[in-house]
Amino acid sequence: MPPDAKIETDKVTTTASRAQTALHPSLDGVRAVLFDVGGTLLHPDWERLARLASRGAGREFRPSELGRKFKEMMCEVDAGMQRGEPAPEDSRKRNWVFRRVYRALEIDETTCESLSEQIDATHAERHLWCAPDDEAARVLGALKAAGLRLAVISNTEDGRLDELLELVGLKAHFDLLIDSQVVGQRKPDAGIFQMTLARLGLEPREAVFIGDSYAHDALAALSVGMRAVLLDPLDFYPDSLCPRIRTLGELIG
Ligand SMILES: [Mg+2]
Repeated sequence: MPPDAKIETDKVTTTASRAQTALHPSLDGVRAVLFDVGGTLLHPDWERLARLASRGAGREFRPSELGRKFKEMMCEVDAGMQRGEPAPEDSRKRNWVFRRVYRALEIDETTCESLSEQIDATHAERHLWCAPDDEAARVLGALKAAGLRLAVISNTEDGRLDELLELVGLKAHFDLLIDSQVVGQRKPDAGIFQMTLARLGLEPREAVFIGDSYAHDALAALSVGMRAVLLDPLDFYPDSLCPRIRTLGELIG
């Protein structure tokens, strides 16, 4: 191959690889991308949770029904927090998210209580938030390849974030994992964001937070001076103060 042709080929290849990793404009100039986990990188095993509900309540539920109720419920929680209400009292209780989903499906309180115990048992066998988003591995790999540092901040109830990310094969992508149960602080408190930035040695403006909760992730990150991108697959937040994406794939164009 003549030398000029080689240079041309290199140019085309470089342009093509840049085009493939054209990052979302919100990531321009940042040094780190921080992620929420539940509802963002990993989803609950709705099939297992639907089977439990069907058995407990004696009627059939589709996994997609539970997924939809979950998003609606989180949207309601966000709306309350935007009105200045504190995080709901039950949000510090075990399985609060799934209890609320079951209640939203009009399952009675006694059955919800029994389902919560069954959730504990099935969760002990295999983590319930074990379904990686279809695009998570590809997006994390591309961001890492683009030279960005990656971290997560997750509100957990059991301190098993490390084990969970290992189980689903995503742990190796991350430079830092912050588990609320381990560090003793939770989102949306500013402290957990500030502590994460300090551990990464970054200023707030050097990092962007990606999450599916408007109040716990997006507004909380903005309040400490970080950038934020809201994952809003169902278009629930048209008035969002930060940019929105429908899928994680939009982060890498
Ligand atoms: Mg979430």
